[in-house]
Amino acid sequence: MQEFDFVVPKTLAEACQMLSDGYGRPVAGCTDVLPQMRHGKLKTERLVDLSRIKSLAYIEHSNGRISIGALTTYEQMVTDRQLHDYAPVLAQAAATVGCRQTRNRGTLGGNLGNASPAGDTLPPLLILNAQVVLAGSSGERRMAVSDLLLAPGKTALLPDEIITSVGFEALPRGMRSLFLKLGNRQGMAVSVASVALALQLDGGGPVQDVRIALGAVAPTAIRCPEAEKFLIGQQIDPITAGAAGRLAAQACAPIDDVRASAAYRRHAIQVLVKRGLLSLSNDGDSHADN
Ligand SMILES: Cc1cc2nc3c(=O)[nH]c(=O)nc-3n(C[C@H](O)[C@H](O)[C@H](O)COP(=O)(O)OP(=O)(O)OC[C@H]3O[C@@H](n4cnc5c(N)ncnc54)[C@H](O)[C@@H]3O)c2cc1C
Repeated sequence: MQEFDFVVPKTLAEACQMLSDGYGRPVAGCTDVLPQMRHGKLKTERLVDLSRIKSLAYIEHSNGRISIGALTTYEQMVTDRQLHDYAPVLAQAAATVGCRQTRNRGTLGGNLGNASPAGDTLPPLLILNAQVVLAGSSGERRMAVSDLLLAPGKTALLPDEIITSVGFEALPRGMRSLFLKLGNRQGMAVSVASVALALQLDGGGPVQDVRIALGAVAPTAIRCPEAEKFLIGQQIDPITAGAAGRLAAQACAPIDDVRASAAYRRHAIQVLVKRGLLSLSNDGDSHADN
């Protein structure tokens, strides 16, 4: 692996200054960056380690809004009671990441900064309509997660910008949510396809609100507006859930790679969306199969 310098700022201001002086790439847990450097996929002469900026590791809930510091680890998200109550889909996704060691080091900011189509927190953040807060030499700005993610490995971050937090409204009362991940094995697997769903039924009857996002089946995580629009006002049953699954599959632009073919990924999305909708509507036990 190439040699590199490693600098450790203790404050956000110091880190922003280093980046604006052209001081290299920000890192947090290094669980993406070090494997990429080891495999020669990433070359950088300096790493700016953010992990000592403890003020960026927190989960706060106030007036129905959740704010999560960029340095918050998966393990913190998995064990946070409020997150399970107000945005269970994100806590569920965090629990599927890697192994305990990876969850102890890997951060939410790193998952966003890495911008992998298969990043497991990204579909949940899309259905939560999450915004990121960025700090840079010219001050602070905010943008939707959907605008941050541009392409595989590519974000709208400027070279001197750091993601400081992610914020979103708690899911409305009565809205149920679910994260489903398909990998090549049960644990320690990168997603072949993933689905984040949130569903609110009108008095247990027709769909009042629904949100669907997909991972690992397009250059970035994506929402599925066509499937969402179709479901509004419908009763969830195997026919409507199956039709929504087909619309979601049409929204994908998957690739063939070592993990799966594009055709398999499209089929997986169809099945996962149908299964997730039936499960959230309480109709899942008898009809969840493909
Ligand atoms: C064994 C293993 C298993 C894994 N399993 C999964 C999995 O199941 N699901 C999954 O989604 N991922 C998985 N990953 C990938 C990785 O753990 C996650 O993407 C993690 O969130 C990266 O966080 P990090 O803090 O380690 O990021 P780093 O590696 O430190 O950084 C990743 C990228 O984000 C940028 N970055 C980091 N923090 C910031 C910030 N605050 N502001 C701006 N840019 C920033 C860096 O410059 C870099 O480009 C796995 C990795 C390993 C090694």
